Amino acid sequence: MPAEPTRKPLMSGNWKMHHNHLEAIQFVQKLSYALNAADYDAVDVSLHPPFTDLRSIQTVLDADRIPILLGAQNCHWDDKGAFTGEVSPPMLAKLAVDLVIVGHSERREIFHESDEWVNRKVKAVLAAQMTPIMCVGETLAEREAGDAEAKVDRQVRAGLTGVAAHQAAGMVIAYEPIWAIGTGQTATPDDAQAMCAAVRGVVADLYDAGTAAATRIQYGGSVKPGNTAELMSRPDVDGALVGGASLDPDSFAQIVRFRLVA
Ligand code: PEP
Repeated sequence: MPAEPTRKPLMSGNWKMHHNHLEAIQFVQKLSYALNAADYDAVDVSLHPPFTDLRSIQTVLDADRIPILLGAQNCHWDDKGAFTGEVSPPMLAKLAVDLVIVGHSERREIFHESDEWVNRKVKAVLAAQMTPIMCVGETLAEREAGDAEAKVDRQVRAGLTGVAAHQAAGMVIAYEPIWAIGTGQTATPDDAQAMCAAVRGVVADLYDAGTAAATRIQYGGSVKPGNTAELMSRPDVDGALVGGASLDPDSFAQIVRFRLVA
């Protein structure tokens, strides 16, 4: 019998290119006033600001002992080198970063990141003792052509190449349909469940049922305070990767506190 999954929900705010370091400090203070110990017991919370905010946020979290996890939005796969404009995993780890988003669809689509690059980044983040949030998801054309599962299957397999079972068990995979990101169009809870279950099925096929039962799988794509509870009620949805609605501390706090929605 595989072990019972102990997947604590993870609610992650991806700020993209929003909020400077002063705005970030104010945000963290407001968010921390809105959350209490019971919230942190029930849910893991991570913030993924721009690189320039990391040090400021880390200082506030540390000084005020706020149990919010610090996250980054991207990294390079090498530890150092002639890569102008890049930031390495050890640099992030030194700043107490816990989680790094890898392969967000905006990076795949706008910056042409390949599956191979995503895989290198996943392994580099793990090697630096941080947790990757590996994003996968289909375009609208792929969904309409009935290729959503095949696309995600391919991305999960490519992203996890060379990753050991115990590492995959500790990872986060975010299913983010590209057509739902920043569009206000959310996948139905049933579709989100079906795709998160499909992702878990690929992990089970690559490793085993116990590994798949441990891996946290988030849904992302126009998550808002009003739709979080229903999405989170589905058994394979272990959290949310939130863009737009994470930019306001009150709205993100409501998302984190989804369990209190009647
Ligand atoms: C995202 O950036 O990963 C995202 C899901 O954005 P939004 O919530 O704005 O759709």
